[in-house]
Amino acid sequence: MADCIFCRIISGDVPADMIHKDEMVTAFRDVNPQAPTHVLIVPNKHIASLNDLTGEDKALVGHIVQTAVQIASSEGLAERGFRVVANCGPEAGQSVDHIHFHLLGGRALGWPPG
Ligand code: 5GP
Ligand code: ZN
Repeated sequence: MADCIFCRIISGDVPADMIHKDEMVTAFRDVNPQAPTHVLIVPNKHIASLNDLTGEDKALVGHIVQTAVQIASSEGLAERGFRVVANCGPEAGQSVDHIHFHLLGGRALGWPPG
């Protein structure tokens, strides 16, 4: 989608600090990091929110989570701990309408979230 910032990052139109790219997903550092490690893992195809996933996306979601875990490991977070979170809709604070999973780590993370 031409007006989607994450589609534009995936296509290379907009620069980002890329961590990983394969045929299904792209991962890049958040421009406004909330922790020492803050990476966004996104599907290469535009899906607006978790509400729009279908049964055909099960492998995709599994791959996103696996990719997040691999990046956490490469960032040295496997033993320390990390968080993977996806905000869906207004009350969760979703601000970009292209599914993204946040990988956060590198500091003690509070719970419950705000
Ligand atoms: P949300 O609030 O939707 O869960 O998360 C959106 C995230 O995307 C935010 O953490 C925000 O900082 C990040 N973000 C928004 N625009 C850009 C951008 O152009 N580049 C990068 N790298 N991150 C972005
Ligand atoms: Zn998009």
